[in-house]
Amino acid sequence: MSTIVNQKQIQDKSRTDDVNVIFNGDRVATVEVTSGKSGDTYRVQITKTGDRQGAICNCNWGLHRPHGENAQRSACHHVIAAYNAINEKPVYAWKTEADADRQKKAKLFIGDGTWITIG
Ligand SMILES: [Zn+2]
Repeated sequence: MSTIVNQKQIQDKSRTDDVNVIFNGDRVATVEVTSGKSGDTYRVQITKTGDRQGAICNCNWGLHRPHGENAQRSACHHVIAAYNAINEKPVYAWKTEADADRQKKAKLFIGDGTWITIG
């Protein structure tokens, strides 16, 4: 099962995306993300509660995320851009929990082999 491995590239790419927060509630959020590169718009749906927090995205990568344990979660750059938008703070992406811990910030495993830290 392939997962994201180039977290820093994904993070950098996310900074060029345009975001439009459609809904940002306590449990879920929906964000439209327009790719800075292709100009295509995708829909990111974030789950904020439970033990499988993360987001699904209808981009090509996101549509092919496995079901089951991973719950179709995607860590594509659209998702990172969406987390940025709803947190109003920069979000950073990491490959390991140890990398995330070193930041001494709030951390979250969002599936697809990716940790994020916020702020
Ligand atoms: Zn995506």
